[in-house]
Amino acid sequence: MPVGESSRPYVVCPVCGHVFRSTYASTYITVGREADLCPKIPGRPSDGARLIRSAVTMCPVCSFAAVEAFDDLDLTFDERCDIEERLKDDGLLKVFRKGQPPWLGFHAAEVCGKERSLRSRELGDLCLRASWVCRKEKERPFESTFQLRALRHFMRSLQEDDLIGRELSVTTYLVGELNRRLGNHREALNWYVNAGRTTEGDPRAAWLDRLIDRQSKLAREQAA
Ligand SMILES: [Zn+2]
Repeated sequence: MPVGESSRPYVVCPVCGHVFRSTYASTYITVGREADLCPKIPGRPSDGARLIRSAVTMCPVCSFAAVEAFDDLDLTFDERCDIEERLKDDGLLKVFRKGQPPWLGFHAAEVCGKERSLRSRELGDLCLRASWVCRKEKERPFESTFQLRALRHFMRSLQEDDLIGRELSVTTYLVGELNRRLGNHREALNWYVNAGRTTEGDPRAAWLDRLIDRQSKLAREQAA
């Protein structure tokens, strides 16, 4: 078994009841983060992608997926039916279920998360992590697709989730950074300014202030 993974004996899918073996990530070494907070993991990028991917568990039969341990999920009968329906109808799952591309688990977790009424912040986080996996696996078009989805969820989150403190600052910053990566440099600059306002005077956010400075400079150069 590759380093950084351990095997739980069995997992029961909370939607279809299928029992299967699953691997999950134990702690792994990171050497800092990229500007969109993607962990830098020593070794080959595809190994890093595998470790990031192992945060999500996906049922091989019905494609139910979540980052939470399946045992901890308590779904109502209606939720199970709605999720099952959604998974069956999902266009990307229809096309890619067989090929199992590296981002599929996060996509399935997002589909299920919508039915489970996860906050937009969590849905955005799933898409952001999918974009990291795509980058490490050099899946360029899908990287942008997931960045755009993450961006939309985070924007909604800023309106609806009542974020405070670190979560508010980081989410606002990520809206800037994702805009920059998608080529919207002026938009990015505005959001970096907003993010800077949320960290004002908080010494614990010094790392984020440095990142905001650095990325603003970069966006200004790219906008010119
Ligand atoms: Zn299942």
